[in-house]
Amino acid sequence: MAEMVVLDPGHGGADPGAVGPTGLREAEVVLDIAKHVFNYLKAHNISVTLTRTKSAEAPSLSERAEMANAIGAELFVSIHCNGHSSDAANGIETYHFPDSAKGKELAKSIQSELIKALRFRDRGVKTAMFAVLRLTRMPAALAEVGFITNPGEEMLLKRDWIRKRAAEAVARGILQYLGLADKEGEEEKPIFIVTGTPILGPVQATVEQAKAWARSRGATEQFVALADLYWDLAPETSVRPEVAYAQSAKETGFGHFGGVLTPQHCNPCGLKVTSGGNNNDPDAHQQFETWREGVQAHLDHLALYAGANGYPKVNTPDPRHFTWLCGRAPNVEALGGKWAPSPDYGSSIVNRYLRPLLATPEPQAPEAKADKLEQEVKKLEDEVETLKRKLEKLEEENRDMRFTLRQIATFSAPYMAK
Ligand SMILES: [Zn+2]
Repeated sequence: MAEMVVLDPGHGGADPGAVGPTGLREAEVVLDIAKHVFNYLKAHNISVTLTRTKSAEAPSLSERAEMANAIGAELFVSIHCNGHSSDAANGIETYHFPDSAKGKELAKSIQSELIKALRFRDRGVKTAMFAVLRLTRMPAALAEVGFITNPGEEMLLKRDWIRKRAAEAVARGILQYLGLADKEGEEEKPIFIVTGTPILGPVQATVEQAKAWARSRGATEQFVALADLYWDLAPETSVRPEVAYAQSAKETGFGHFGGVLTPQHCNPCGLKVTSGGNNNDPDAHQQFETWREGVQAHLDHLALYAGANGYPKVNTPDPRHFTWLCGRAPNVEALGGKWAPSPDYGSSIVNRYLRPLLATPEPQAPEAKADKLEQEVKKLEDEVETLKRKLEKLEEENRDMRFTLRQIATFSAPYMAK
């Protein structure tokens, strides 16, 4: 699978990067932020690779660039925090290679999202010959997410929610650059299809997330409850449960059915009987004993299409487990024209069902926890305000002091001259 985006958390290994007044290390902060960016992009079906995933790892700058060149990445984003000998230096800036118009566009997009999200001082988009910008062959940007040497920004960069907010901003900047920005509440844009959406692989959504999504689309309680079966049975088959569940939502109208298939079929994906038959014939559709059996058959049928290890399977309730179907659809998009006659069948599952499912936020933990977080945010914002006022006062004192010094110099001049 070709990788599209390479994320480069700066420093690592013996190199901590810039270190804050209380000892916070740039290398740790940027690794954490980059991992969050990684997850946000994955959730948007973007393939993404990290140049390092552990604190101990420390590829050289040229190795990082080479990694991106070797896999033919679309774009490269390096994440750093700034450092300065003066602890007053603050704000966010993003770099690109001089004369790279696309790099500049990418840097601008990331910079503006970071400023919107964190409201740190906007130091603007700048150019630099940094090795990772110079040696990468694709549009590249390097974001300096605040000054770790500034006590106020160091304090903020310690907070998990600030890092997540920064990561979301970087991810949004990348999505915008790619023309895939997700505007909340708007109709989903077509997915960025290059490698397709995998049917098999690690789970990318929680069962609670899936249920919240189904409820938000007016699903029946029966359909909401099916999520438990999908998340329970999918790991055995290596099918991503969210993919199967999204397909089931399409096939059953979120459990409302409405076609020849009825809830009594316990058939969550419209599987036909072994001999097949007309779409309008209820008897042509398989009747399962239980929903568990129906979901198992669905997962086995998908795993077969995707060519999962161990398929075709000997023991399966799938009535149409034909060997010739094995590996016919390496990704969800490829189900079009195969699982169902419409060529858009697969991409419709991805765009209209799977993406909104993945974009559904995890249901909030108990109210109390949310309140506590809100208080924490409020407290931090107050702390920021206090620091800002302190800084203003210091600047004012500084001005007064300079003024006084000038006055003394002026008044004493005639006497000094004598
Ligand atoms: Zn750095």
